[in-house]
Amino acid sequence: MPPIDPKLLPDDVLGVCRRLRGAGHQAYLVGGGIRDLLLGRVPKDFDVATSALPDAVMNLFGMRYAVPTGLKHGTVTVLTGEPPTHRPVEVTTFRGEGAYLDGRRPSSVTFGATLTEDLSRRDFTMNAIAYDAVAGDLFDPFDGQGDLRRGLVRAVGDAEQRFVEDGLRAMRAVRQAAQLGFAIDPPTLAAIGRGMDSFRKVSSERVRDELLKLLGSPQPSRGIELMRETGLLAAVMPELLEGVDCLQNRFHRFDVYRHTLMTLDRTRGDAIVRFGSLLHDVGKPRSRQPREDAPGEFSFFKHEYVGAEMADDICRRLKFGTADRDSVQALVVNHMFFYTPDWTDGTVRRFIRRVGAAHLPALLALREADVLGRGFDEDPDKETGELRRRIEEVTVEDAAMSVKDLVIDGRDIMRVLGIPAGRQVGLVLEALLERVLDDSSLNTRPTLEALLPEVATRAAATARNPA
Ligand code: ATP
Ligand code: MG
Repeated sequence: MPPIDPKLLPDDVLGVCRRLRGAGHQAYLVGGGIRDLLLGRVPKDFDVATSALPDAVMNLFGMRYAVPTGLKHGTVTVLTGEPPTHRPVEVTTFRGEGAYLDGRRPSSVTFGATLTEDLSRRDFTMNAIAYDAVAGDLFDPFDGQGDLRRGLVRAVGDAEQRFVEDGLRAMRAVRQAAQLGFAIDPPTLAAIGRGMDSFRKVSSERVRDELLKLLGSPQPSRGIELMRETGLLAAVMPELLEGVDCLQNRFHRFDVYRHTLMTLDRTRGDAIVRFGSLLHDVGKPRSRQPREDAPGEFSFFKHEYVGAEMADDICRRLKFGTADRDSVQALVVNHMFFYTPDWTDGTVRRFIRRVGAAHLPALLALREADVLGRGFDEDPDKETGELRRRIEEVTVEDAAMSVKDLVIDGRDIMRVLGIPAGRQVGLVLEALLERVLDDSSLNTRPTLEALLPEVATRAAATARNPA
């Protein structure tokens, strides 16, 4: 393992350690920050472990720079530098812990532990390395550096006991393996599988947060595969397992599950877009029908609707917020579109309206990944390139996309047609919009008012005989 490059160690973080040491305390950099430095990655944040008690840390840095963010757990957040360019550094008193009674949180935390005790209660060897930044010494009692070199996530101490103590560690293991491109050491992997009872006690919110970090990693399929191997997938999203060995048709080289993972890895976008990608075909296994015209092949009629309902269930179960749930569902339900050059501008506008402008970039990213995920090296731009240009064209025209964009409103309709408020007004507005979607030049007051009588008669007829 190459030594830590001092250039990557920010002065302000070093300053926090110096200050603690100057007051006679021990202070080490620990956790993800030091792990990332050893890997030559840019650390996201820095954690400091210290022998100083939380009150002493508060006093040393003062109310202005020390925020008591988790005193119960011994954590004080020290803000370095001056606002607004503060950097938060978490300073945590060495901890030893009481027993875990419920598989979720230790029943008590004890302070006054040693550095070794503190490191032995950390989850994985690579996260249990301490660095004395002032002296430049590494303290690595569990050979975390060896595991970093081997690319292994390995539990500190008795793996089975560690996953029983805290069920969230199972998700942390697969998430960190995905983020770093690591494997999980076989005994640790086996212990995750045996710790599923503890895992099931973890709150959905904490599982969701780990899942989202996993999905945001460079190769999320690695994490999902590890979830499958350990039994985590069966506990979190058993629906995805229905796609294993679910064969498709000549357009697909892989079963639904493998196609999904291929697509997932190729989806450009944030973790929510990736989640939509993970679920885009989740409805396929339940919609699969043998094709009469093609023996050995299957069709998946309406799988996007079945899938959207399943995705909704999954998002609710994992306590996603409404906006994220809507985004995921929009991707799943709309992913079966087939652009052809004969789409009129009106068709393009209706497409934008149906999907929602906000969801379009994600939907196109999903389609590009989906094409690659079929496994035949097709050019994804062939499917989306022209549609992207068409969307841009009709969007810059700034045409009406919803009834709110029409230059006349419900009151105008009631006045011109002499009808009361009610369902008919809404139907007329919808019918006017249909005309404007086809020809945006109609969206002027005189033209729309002139169109009203004819449109109203038709709207009334459709209302009586819905197609
Ligand atoms: P990242 O910040 O990149 O997600 P990290 O390893 O820093 O990764 P944090 O959640 O920031 O993760 O936790 C900081 C450190 O605290 C970890 O490196 C680990 O040493 C310890 N830790 C965090 N969660 C647990 C846990 N559930 N059980 C044991 N130790 C933990
Ligand atoms: Mg961290």
